[in-house]
Amino acid sequence: MEFSTDMMYEELGISKEVIKFGTEIEKNLKERFEKIDLVAEYNQMKVIKAMQKNKLSDVHFGATTGYGYNDLGRDTLEAVYADVFHAEAALVRPQITCGTHALNVALAGNLRPGDELLSPVGKPYDTMDEIIGIRPSNGSLAEYGISYRQVDLLPDGSFDYENIKKAINDKTKLVTIQRSKGYASRPTLSVARIGELISFIKGIKPDVICMVDNCYGEFVETIEPTDVGADLCVGSLIKNPGGGLAPIGGYIVGKEEYVTNAAYRLTSPGLGKEVGATLGINQTLFQGFFLAPTVVSGALKGAIFAANVYEKLGFNVIPNGTESRHDIIQAIEFGKPEGVIEFCKGIQAAAPVDSYVTPEPWAMPGYDSDVIMAAGAFVQGSSIELSADGPIKPPYTVFFQGGLTWYHAKLGIMMSLEKIVHANLAHLK
Ligand SMILES: *Cc1c(COP(=O)(O)O)cnc(C)c1O
Repeated sequence: MEFSTDMMYEELGISKEVIKFGTEIEKNLKERFEKIDLVAEYNQMKVIKAMQKNKLSDVHFGATTGYGYNDLGRDTLEAVYADVFHAEAALVRPQITCGTHALNVALAGNLRPGDELLSPVGKPYDTMDEIIGIRPSNGSLAEYGISYRQVDLLPDGSFDYENIKKAINDKTKLVTIQRSKGYASRPTLSVARIGELISFIKGIKPDVICMVDNCYGEFVETIEPTDVGADLCVGSLIKNPGGGLAPIGGYIVGKEEYVTNAAYRLTSPGLGKEVGATLGINQTLFQGFFLAPTVVSGALKGAIFAANVYEKLGFNVIPNGTESRHDIIQAIEFGKPEGVIEFCKGIQAAAPVDSYVTPEPWAMPGYDSDVIMAAGAFVQGSSIELSADGPIKPPYTVFFQGGLTWYHAKLGIMMSLEKIVHANLAHLK
């Protein structure tokens, strides 16, 4: 008996035309995919090396309860993270509920009344608005007397060095640099560019804390922001570094002093890193981190495949089909709400979990417009798993990311195309 992958795609609901279109695109991506595999190979070794150095052993997979004093697994996990990021210390905890929480802990732990926070790369991710107080919110940094300043990127995406210099003043205590574009249409920053920005800022004020929101960037390159001078680097375990296995968590790595300050905020002054039971999830967090380089490579292939598919159909895609990649997010501008909605329906229909439900736009906490989200994930809301979301506002851009395997990402994109073509929103040439 012969196995036909095309027939299997057809059984899943992909038409012959879409399969043919996708296959042609994939053929031209061989060389790029090989380069991605090389980055994954390097990062895999980096993670194994850190695990060996810290003598990872099955004793570290045991559970603690209660206060969680002397949780060897937790302390070793944090040492492994610190080594992979070439940082002094790490806080990697299931008590950090998500990326937004990790960012809040890092900021609130290190800023004091009268300090100023600066974003030199434009408006940060939507959920940061209420942390900072850009949109008034109970408990925001603004309520604690911490002011905020922002310098936008120049129209061509470059840093506005002149105005950044002017914005740095006596009060500037912490600079937040978001690596990924998030829900914006600006380019994602490479680690090298983040390094240039940090050098510039330290040249003006050496003691300012440079923090990078590293969400979606981990393991996309062979270096991380802490390799180019970042004092703090923050992210979510239900994105890249959790490898799809972490059921919850966030991390903060960097200079010991600043990580410790964050720990005092997460738990309590005086307690810091010493408490925090892990309830048996250490093994999963280690294993997810171990798999993360490979998982990220699959997600990257999916993003590049999607860019090339939709670029060929005439849509504006960010990054474009040939650009170098610094995060796993792919933005596609549809120009109308229907495009965003049909795309998300396709991603949902290709999922292993909840494939039978239809996503709809909805008001989400932390966002200022309705948002549609497609995710049939093993871990709720996990966006290292194949997922797509888009705020329902012009220019009607869908943000697509993840895929625990390249094959699943590919199926998702072909299914999205199937829905888009069926709704007459694009025509295969
Ligand atoms: C996802 C994300 C966040 C917030 O993380 P959540 O886990 O969704 O709270 C912050 N910044 C960026 C750039 C992100 O991509």
